[in-house]
Amino acid sequence: MRYSAWTLIRQAFSGQQGWTPAWRDVKPQDHYDVVVVGGGGHGLATAYYLAKVHGLTRVAVVEKGYVGSGNVGRNTTIIRSNYLLPGNTPFYEWSLKLWEGLEQDINFNAMVSQRGVLNLFHSDAQRDAFARRGNAMRIAGVDAELLGREDVRSLVPHLDFDNARFPVKGGLLQPRGGTVRHDAVAWGYARAADALGVDIIQDCEVTGIRVTGGRAVGLETTRGYIGAGKIGLAAAGNSSRVAAMAGLRLPIESHVLQAFVSESIKPLIDTVVTFGAGHFYISQSDKGGLVFGGDIDGYNSYAQRGSLSLVEHMMEEGVSLMPMLGRLRMVRSWGGVMDMSMDGSPIIDRTPVQGLYLNCGWCYGGFKATPASGWCFAHTIARDEAHALNAAYRLDRFATGRLIDEKGAGAQPNLH
Ligand SMILES: Cc1cc2nc3c(=O)[nH]c(=O)nc-3n(C[C@H](O)[C@H](O)[C@H](O)COP(=O)(O)OP(=O)(O)OC[C@H]3O[C@@H](n4cnc5c(N)ncnc54)[C@H](O)[C@@H]3O)c2cc1C
Repeated sequence: MRYSAWTLIRQAFSGQQGWTPAWRDVKPQDHYDVVVVGGGGHGLATAYYLAKVHGLTRVAVVEKGYVGSGNVGRNTTIIRSNYLLPGNTPFYEWSLKLWEGLEQDINFNAMVSQRGVLNLFHSDAQRDAFARRGNAMRIAGVDAELLGREDVRSLVPHLDFDNARFPVKGGLLQPRGGTVRHDAVAWGYARAADALGVDIIQDCEVTGIRVTGGRAVGLETTRGYIGAGKIGLAAAGNSSRVAAMAGLRLPIESHVLQAFVSESIKPLIDTVVTFGAGHFYISQSDKGGLVFGGDIDGYNSYAQRGSLSLVEHMMEEGVSLMPMLGRLRMVRSWGGVMDMSMDGSPIIDRTPVQGLYLNCGWCYGGFKATPASGWCFAHTIARDEAHALNAAYRLDRFATGRLIDEKGAGAQPNLH
C-alpha cells in the first residue's frame, strides 16, 4: 500500500477500514542468502539497501524484541555531519544526504526536520577549535557557520549568556543538521524492506552462531535454526555478546545513556543546541516537550535503564545553560545500551570468520548514521569488500593503530 494524500482521503471516506499492516508477520524460513541480526535502524536499513541497491531479496532481519525496542527508538533524534576527520566526514555527509531524500525514498513520514545544530563555545580556545572544525567541514563541502555571541542570542535568547563560569561566546552552526522522529525511521525502513521481499522476524533472539570450517553458516534462535549464506551483525549495545557467539572478542564496551523529556510547552527552541562546557544537548519535539541528554552513565551495563546520579548531573548541566529549565517538570526518561568503541568511531567490516560481517561501535551517535551505515554495510555484505565510505571503519585498526579518534580522547569510552 502506497501512502499519499490520496490514500488518506480515500481511507477517511471508507471509515479507516482499509489500512494494511506496515509489514508482514512471517515465520522464519530454513535458509536465507543473508540474515541480519538486530532489527534496529542499522539492521533494517541494511536489509532495505541489500534488496534495493544489490537486488538481494532472500534476506531476513531477526530481532529479539520488537522493531524499534532498541536504541533506534530511544535516542534524542539528532542528525548532523559536523565531523573533523577525513575518515568520518564523507560518511556522515552521505548519511545526511540520504536523510534529505529518505521520506520520498521509503514513502514514509519520518519527520525529517533540518532545524540546524548549534554547538556553543565558551572560551577563546574552544572558539579556535570550532573554527578549525568549521573550516574542515567547508573544505569537505559540508555547511558550517561560525556565529558570534549576538548571532547566537538572536537564535536562542534564553541561554545564560553571562554565566560566570561558562559565558556563551558564540557557536558553530550546521544549518542542515536537525532532528528526525526516531521510531518512524525503524518503521519506515521495516515497511520499505518488507515491500521488497525482506522477512522481518520479531521476537526471535539469536542464541548461537553456527561456524563450520571457519565459515558462519547459520543462527541458533529462539524460533529454531536459520541457515544463512551470509550473516550481518547489527546488534548495537549487544554487539559484544552476539559476536562472542562466533568466538570474537570486540573492542567495545556497553554503557547506558539516558534521555529526558519535559512537559509540553509553547515553542521555545527551534534548533538543536549543545552545551560546549559540559555534555548536554537539547531540542524541542513537535509535541512541545523539551528533549535532552548528556553523558553515559559511566559503568558497564546491558540494562536499558539509567542511574539517578546521572539524572541529577544532567539537570545541573541543563539549568547552567538555560536557568529557566528549573521551572519545568520532567515527564519521561529512559535508557539505552551504547556500543562504545575504543576510539569513538564505528566498525563496519568483515570479520575473521568467513561470511560474518560486523556493524557496531556507534557510541552516542549512531542514529544520524543510520542511512549511510545501512548503505555501506549492505555494500560490504553483498560485495564482500568495504565501500569507499566505510573503508576506514576497519575492525583491525585497533591492532594496527590506525584509529579514528575524532575527539582526541584516547581509548576512554567515557570521554567519547
Ligand atoms: C538516550 C540515547 C540518546 C541518543 N541520542 C542520539 C542522537 O541524538 N543522535 C544520534 O545520532 N545517536 C544517538 N544515540 C545513539 C543511537 O541511538 C545508536 O547509536 C543507534 O540507534 C544504534 O543503532 P541501531 O538503531 O541499529 O540500534 P538498536 O535499535 O539498539 O538495534 C539493535 C537491535 O539488536 C537487537 N538484538 C540485540 N541482541 C540480539 C540478539 N541476540 N538476537 C536478536 N536481536 C538482538 C536489539 O533488540 C536491538 O533492537 C542515542 C542513544 C541513546 C540510548
